[in-house]
Amino acid sequence: MSLVKNLIPESQYSTKCPYSMQPKGICIHNTANDATAINERNYMARADNLNEVSFHIVIDDKEAIQCIPFNRNAWHAGDGGNGQGNRNYIAVEICYSKSGGDRFIKAEQRAAKEVATLLKQYGWIINNVKKHQDFSNKYCPHRTLDMGWKRFLNMIQSELNALNETSTQTPPANSVGGIKVGSKVRVIGANYATGEVVPGWVKNNTYTVQQVNGNKCLLGDIVSWVYAKDLQVVSVGNTAPSTPKPSKRYLNLKSHMQRWAIYNEKGPYTTPYKIGDLKPAMFGGLSYEILGNPATDVYIIQTKDYGKVAIWAPRDNDSSITNNPIY
Ligand SMILES: [Zn+2]
Repeated sequence: MSLVKNLIPESQYSTKCPYSMQPKGICIHNTANDATAINERNYMARADNLNEVSFHIVIDDKEAIQCIPFNRNAWHAGDGGNGQGNRNYIAVEICYSKSGGDRFIKAEQRAAKEVATLLKQYGWIINNVKKHQDFSNKYCPHRTLDMGWKRFLNMIQSELNALNETSTQTPPANSVGGIKVGSKVRVIGANYATGEVVPGWVKNNTYTVQQVNGNKCLLGDIVSWVYAKDLQVVSVGNTAPSTPKPSKRYLNLKSHMQRWAIYNEKGPYTTPYKIGDLKPAMFGGLSYEILGNPATDVYIIQTKDYGKVAIWAPRDNDSSITNNPIY
């Protein structure tokens, strides 16, 4: 929706998000303090902060900040080094839960929107939303629970419904920025739509577009939604493979030839019927595109003086046939 990406420095990854992760869902927390989202982010980013405590997203009434890539874990669920929550869930912290009030209400609303956006992005449903309490016995997200967990899930669901409605109202685009389903593309942008850093091996490969939705494309093989602006089309999909254009061939009359007889296009191609002479020597050699080949060693060419004519050029040292004109 309006997720601001402000990742912690990579030097913090070994402490805050050491493992790679394929997220299975979202885990909701309350910060239990009154700090702003940016302060929460900056505290986690500090080089001297070596606590194994971390989160992916922090949200207050003004903004939602992504601090850790979604393909790395975070330490938030209190269920240990190999815990489901710690190793598989995107952690969302909602600010101002200590004192509550209007800014907490707004932060929660913003959180519902962001969570719904993630559900849609990952193709998840409301059951993919968990609370910290589901993974360990901590009463978190404390204020959200006090106010009603089911109420918060309903907020997310209605945001999700709204997102799905808008996407069904607009006919599904089958093309964006010249990219279609079936297009072969290369990832050139800096980031996935979901915020991950694009690894080098992804950039080095080409991918087939499986789906197009809005301004994003689902890539096969890595199964990830990527902004169309971060893609470069290698080949356009959904078109029959184009037959390679036959390359042009040229007849080159070498420069030692003073005269070269030409004939009517339709023949006969024998000396008594010649209609004129070309003078290769005068021009330092002459090259003509071959337009036809009506008989063995007979070629149709376009001349300036005689129009379209036939010429007899046996394969010997007086002429050559090449892909590019020599003269
Ligand atoms: Zn928590």
